[in-house]
Amino acid sequence: MKAEKKTKIVKTIRIDVDQCNGCRACEVICSAVHAAPKFSSNNPARSRIRIIRDPLRDIYVPVLAGEYTVAECAGRDKYMIDGKEYDECSFCRASCPSREEFKEPDSGLPLKCDMCEDEEDGPQCVKWCLVDALIYEEREEEVAEDEGPETLEIGLESLADKYGLETLMETMARMAKKG
Ligand code: SF4
Ligand code: SF4
Repeated sequence: MKAEKKTKIVKTIRIDVDQCNGCRACEVICSAVHAAPKFSSNNPARSRIRIIRDPLRDIYVPVLAGEYTVAECAGRDKYMIDGKEYDECSFCRASCPSREEFKEPDSGLPLKCDMCEDEEDGPQCVKWCLVDALIYEEREEEVAEDEGPETLEIGLESLADKYGLETLMETMARMAKKG
């Protein structure tokens, strides 16, 4: 049977690299709003947005944490920008086994941008970026009706396999207390 279609709102943050000055306010506020309890600490290593920095060339590239992936990818891309070659994984959004970005420093659990879904005034990195390098946008998109729980189960299973059920449960309990 063909799956019914429904519309959903897709939230995105458009990144204007030319505007970013590398101030890292976005990293600070992201880690602070996601601390438990909220605002109890700030640590850019816990942020779901990271700034790839090359201060000598005045290059700063914000990267938002995307999906967790169980395995490293088989092929990688090299980037040349203004004559500088960047590390193959520099601009990747994934939390992946081959690097430390987008992982909780203590538990090692993956971090993913949640678009600040608990914040009434939307993504806090956008609000704190005073030079408009981050621009929040929404658009409507058609999706299949039955997407969701199955994808969620696969994601939880792979996290439990990698980190152990106990660590996963502890982290989820900590997240549930947050607020
Ligand atoms: S707050 Fe804006 S300007 Fe500052 S590092 Fe983040 S994206 Fe760049
Ligand atoms: S939208 Fe929220 S969760 Fe995502 S990077 Fe910005 S501050 Fe962090």
